[in-house]
Amino acid sequence: MASTTATKNKRKPAHGARLTNEQNAESGFTASKELSENLQKVLVDLLELASQGKQAHWNVIGTNFRDTHLALDEIIDSAREFSDTIAERMRALHALPDGRSDTVAESTTLPEFPQGEIATTEVIDLITARLEDTVATCRGVHDQVDEEDPTSADIFHEIIEKLEQYAWMMSAENREAGHLVTDMYTAQDPTTQYPRPPFPPQQQDAPGDIHEMTPAPDHGEKTYIGFGRLPGRKALVTGADSGIGRAVAIAYAREGADVALSYLAEEQEQAEEVAELIRAEGRAAVLLPGDIQEEQVSIDVVEKAAAELGGLDILVLNAGTMPTVDSIDDFETKTLDHVVKVNIYPLFWMTKAASPHLKPGAAIITTSSIQGFDPSPSLAEYAVSKAGIANWTRALAQQLIERGIRVNGVAPGPIWTPLQPAFVPNEKIEHFGEQTPIGRAGQPVELAPAYVFLASQESSYVVGETIAVTGGMTLT
Ligand code: NAD
Ligand code: MG
Repeated sequence: MASTTATKNKRKPAHGARLTNEQNAESGFTASKELSENLQKVLVDLLELASQGKQAHWNVIGTNFRDTHLALDEIIDSAREFSDTIAERMRALHALPDGRSDTVAESTTLPEFPQGEIATTEVIDLITARLEDTVATCRGVHDQVDEEDPTSADIFHEIIEKLEQYAWMMSAENREAGHLVTDMYTAQDPTTQYPRPPFPPQQQDAPGDIHEMTPAPDHGEKTYIGFGRLPGRKALVTGADSGIGRAVAIAYAREGADVALSYLAEEQEQAEEVAELIRAEGRAAVLLPGDIQEEQVSIDVVEKAAAELGGLDILVLNAGTMPTVDSIDDFETKTLDHVVKVNIYPLFWMTKAASPHLKPGAAIITTSSIQGFDPSPSLAEYAVSKAGIANWTRALAQQLIERGIRVNGVAPGPIWTPLQPAFVPNEKIEHFGEQTPIGRAGQPVELAPAYVFLASQESSYVVGETIAVTGGMTLT
């Protein structure tokens, strides 16, 4: 980039280039060739920043986009103002600012801005990176500029300070998971409420970490508002550190419930974040790590939850695993054993262990899947377990309603959780959710209201039902 600028300047030298370091009594201080080139470098990046800000402004879509527009407006205005200041400084130093579009395009250090509509979260990342690049250019030339012309260096200080502030403010929007919409109730277009595919390729080892996901999923941390629908209830949620379980745990606490969290030991940190959010609502949180493939662990989790919460009246059976096996030729007994041990056995073990604690008015909620109804070819082991869960839900509903305990389920469609990058290959991650009528993946928080409804007394006449939260895919 720098060499391009140098070439340009050679072709059409700035006035100052021939008067290196000359103090001219009549025309004042004249910039050296080096100083004018350094000012020119900053100038082109500022012009490019303003034009990319405009590009982003036109094509940004999705949630929080009004705020993103306002932030972009400020950045564009500042970049324009700063570019004027630099250009005027150059003229004062008898250097020729070159802001022609081809010069800018050739010599900027900023990478090209992508074409087409871009979701707010991605725009925030892109613009943050451009702000940081422009700051890097300023910092890179600062010392040389300062040596020759402290006045220009002072202008750089102002630019650096402001752009760093913008970069910090923009990126803050994406740093915290769950900052995607302001709340769950403001009416808006659901097709653009959350990021739409394509998603960036990403893979994780199971069980996966929400903080490694781009874009960050929304579990309701900032968006779920409770209305006291579960006052004083005591809930156990499995798979509660991340994904759907995390969203359910947060929502339950905001609705007034105390919540015990079951998860794998390696997910401790994520679970502690959930516990902190629950306690921030003034509700109790109980942390119960353990591998629930073991019968005794499943039983202990329930017993400890009931003991530490002082009872149990909501049981959310949500933990799950989802190995992908493309061909029957690769079928392995141990894969199916593992799926059934994680996805099915705990339903029996935990419900049996919970049974003595559950009183009339209690609720059990399972998580099956669209896969249980309309399976994908590479998910046979998983899909059969999910069909089993929907079936179990109907059977147990009939058993337990006699005791005033309701059993229901939720069948999610494609939801943006660690399960996906942990088990699904990149070519599918990039198009994740595209096949749904709504055209995008669901966010974990969008599942929470169904779990709240099924746990709350307001669903008193709903028994043995599986609610589809699928972005329009039908359970057939
Ligand atoms: P997730 O990875 O965030 O949650 C799954 C959780 O299951 C893990 O966090 C882990 O705590 C728990 N788990 C897995 N194996 C365990 C074990 N051996 N012992 C104890 N806990 C264990 O992903 P998610 O998508 O929120 O998954 C929650 C449920 O939703 C699963 O049952 C999944 O099958 C179902 N589901 C997910 C989708 C989707 O697209 N994400 C779609 C339909 C159904
Ligand atoms: Mg997890």
